[in-house]
Formats: sequence, structure tokens, C-alpha cells
Amino acid sequence: MDHSSTCAICGSEPETSFHAVMSCTKARALRFDIRNSWKLPAEKELKFTGPDWVLLILANSSQDTRRNLPLLWWRAWHLRNGIILKGQATVAASVTFLLKFSQETATSFTTEIPDQKGKRPIGVTTPAASTKQAVSSSGSGWTAPGDPFLKLNVDDGFVASSEEASWGAVLRNHLGEALLSAWGRLPYCCSAEETELAACIEGLRISRAARTTENILESDCQMMTNALNQVHRNHSHLAAVVHDAKVLMIEPLSCSVAFVSRGNNSVAHALAMKGKTSRCNRLVLEDVPPDVRPLALGDLMPD
Ligand SMILES: [Zn+2]
Repeated sequence: MDHSSTCAICGSEPETSFHAVMSCTKARALRFDIRNSWKLPAEKELKFTGPDWVLLILANSSQDTRRNLPLLWWRAWHLRNGIILKGQATVAASVTFLLKFSQETATSFTTEIPDQKGKRPIGVTTPAASTKQAVSSSGSGWTAPGDPFLKLNVDDGFVASSEEASWGAVLRNHLGEALLSAWGRLPYCCSAEETELAACIEGLRISRAARTTENILESDCQMMTNALNQVHRNHSHLAAVVHDAKVLMIEPLSCSVAFVSRGNNSVAHALAMKGKTSRCNRLVLEDVPPDVRPLALGDLMPD
């Protein structure tokens, strides 16, 4: 962020990243409100200590805080953009969003998946068939691939009532560094299942276009990972899309497909949410966007 201009919201300090997500009036109001529900470090520990302030704060935080703070920073940035660009974002709406988001992802750390869900052949639509399912997980955080492998995380968003679909993908190395991130709309998808597969194909395409090759593909849609891992031919109405994804997965090198809980797929999820409000079908960065960076810094599973 440019450090020279004064904050457009409070006008009291230069508009640094720390100011935007920590000391600006709206960021502080959001943090104080969310403290009623979330455990956060004491205010005196949330100080600017130099360019590595994010890493230093996270290094001294508990596992819960390592998860909560990046979400808070991500949302504080979103709130700021909403106020400056649209003039209509509120602290209360951001608190509601964070509590809901946290609840959804927290479930994925503790809830057992019922056997019959998430294991249907793709294309068999039931009320629950398109719902992302949570599974138990040994911890929270993204797991890095071993050096020199790369991991592609993909996620999608689909609103049934409006048939609005979006996707997000991030390619990261063994240090958790993002080599690519991408997001956008999926204007031709008309079901959650189709959107999930399309998100996977978009992610694989950007990885191929950049001449990088992921070795592991992760998604929080168990139905999709099952379909892609299926050896037999898919016979559903989405067979052609499943086939396209499988072809992308084996050329030029084959990659494995793994299911991951939603809480451990948070960067791809945040990118898919960005895709919802994007005007483009495909935006690609050789990094993660600034608003998602805190999530990428904070989601590494501790060794
Ligand atoms: Zn400010």
C-alpha cells in the first residue's frame, strides 16, 4: 500500500497496511466488537513493530488467534474498501459475516461427515448432494506440500437463487508462498456441482498457462474429489466436465486429488468470494491479492 497519502476514512494517519487493518477507526471498531465473541491478543500486543508486524504477531499467538487474526484483517480490509468505494459497508455487517464464516469453518474441524453424504457419484442430485460437507480434521491450517512439490487449492461459490457462480484458486509451494492466485465469475454454471468442477478446471488451466505444474490438487468438495479420483468412466450428466478436468490433471504431469476441510482451504475460499464481486471471469496474480495476504500468512499448519 502507498504510505504517503492520509487515510480517506479517519484522516488521522498515513494510509499504511497496518493503519488500514489495525489502527483506523473502523478497523478498531470491528476488532473491539468481535472481541465479545473471539479471543484475541491484548491491545498492547497488537503493535506495529516494523515491516514484519504480521508475522511477529502471529508467531506469538495461540492456534486460535493464528486463525482469527488473519480473518479479522481480511474483513477489516474488505470493510475499508466497502466504505471508501461504495460508502455503504458497516461494522455490524462485518461482525455478522465474521461470526458466520468462523462458525462454518470451525464446524469443519470437529464435525464428522455422515457416510451417505459427499460420497454419491457426481451428478446424482439430492438436497444434500451439492452441499459441501465438513469432516473431522486433526488441526486447523493449510498443510504445505513437501519440497519441491506445489499444491493447488480450489474453491467455488454458488448461489442457487440467483445462479451466481464464482471460483478461486491458489498455487503454493512448500514454504506456503503463493506463486499464483486467480478468481473470477462462472457465468455459464447453473448448479453447485457444475460450479465445483468448473472451479477446478479454471484452477488447473491457470496453473498450466503459467507453465507451472501442481502435484496436488485440493478441494473442500468431497463429491468432486471422489469423481476425479474415480477410475471408472463417469456416467452422470457432468461426465464431459469430469473428463475435461481429468485430462488437465494428467498433462503434462499427473497430480493427485485430495479432499481438505473447508477451514483448511480458506485462501481459495476467500478468492472464490472475491470472484463473486469480480467483473471478470478470470483474474490472475503472481501472488495473492493484498486483502487475502493475511489469510495466506496465517493459515500455515504449525510443524
Ligand atoms: Zn484511518
